[in-house]
Amino acid sequence: MSQRVVITGGASGIGLTLARRFAERGDRVALCDADAAAVAQVQADHPDMLARQADVTDEAAMQAFFDEVETAFEGVDVLCANAGTGGPAGRIEDLDYGEWQACIGVNLNGAFLACRWAARLMRAQGSGLILITSSTSGFHGVPYRSPYVAAKWGLVGITKTLAMELGPAGVRVNAIAPGAVEGARMERVLQMEAKASGLTVEETRALYVKGTSLRTWVTGDDLADMALFLASPAAGKVTGQLLAVDGHTESMVP
Ligand code: NAD
Repeated sequence: MSQRVVITGGASGIGLTLARRFAERGDRVALCDADAAAVAQVQADHPDMLARQADVTDEAAMQAFFDEVETAFEGVDVLCANAGTGGPAGRIEDLDYGEWQACIGVNLNGAFLACRWAARLMRAQGSGLILITSSTSGFHGVPYRSPYVAAKWGLVGITKTLAMELGPAGVRVNAIAPGAVEGARMERVLQMEAKASGLTVEETRALYVKGTSLRTWVTGDDLADMALFLASPAAGKVTGQLLAVDGHTESMVP
């Protein structure tokens, strides 16, 4: 059965892969993203999707996006609260407070606004899935990445709590934890972490691979496979979980 899917941070990376994969199986997809050019590209490539420029930390902009989605879709079956940013890398004593706040703002506050909207609709419907993108940084410590790690652990707390609040109303809430995902974002993260640790980019990349049991990175499609499973009746009893798609992370300590 066709579902109504809303994705934040959906104009590139994992979010765009999720959007494509849901759309390919016949779902209606709406997405927002802060990057206006990427949004325009998605809208041009996928005229059936509702793609809008909106920053997840801007309450008014998000409300305008949600209002438009509600009018178009008359409800929502799946929310992917996916928008995120890596934030700064550095020793805690060197981190800038503004950068800390910006990282928490996008990853955590942005998820709050999206979850609050979806929860209102889904509770009234008596059904729905909220799927939050956390990270392997949501269950490990990662030196030099304290704001990102704090935000991603925070998302696991939100997941557990909303599963309890919304479960009795028939709404499921889960989080996915991507490992290192092939793509432009991880290339940026590698550069940043190498600079902070003193290792080379290639040494840092090798440590990520060595730190997983399957000796692998993952792809956006690996994440989409999990999202489609969670949105299916086969996962009808799965809620309150953090599901890692990461080849099993043994260590994230460079
Ligand atoms: P990405 O940078 O390729 O895509 C993120 C998207 O979010 C971009 O289109 C960006 O414009 C958008 N975005 C950023 N800030 C925004 C804001 N304030 N409002 C709206 N949109 C905003 O990154 P990705 O790898 O696709 O990451 C998606 C999610 O997966 C993030 O939450 C990220 O933390 C998480 N994650 C990624 C990896 C990885 O290896 N790539 C690993 C673990 C978790």
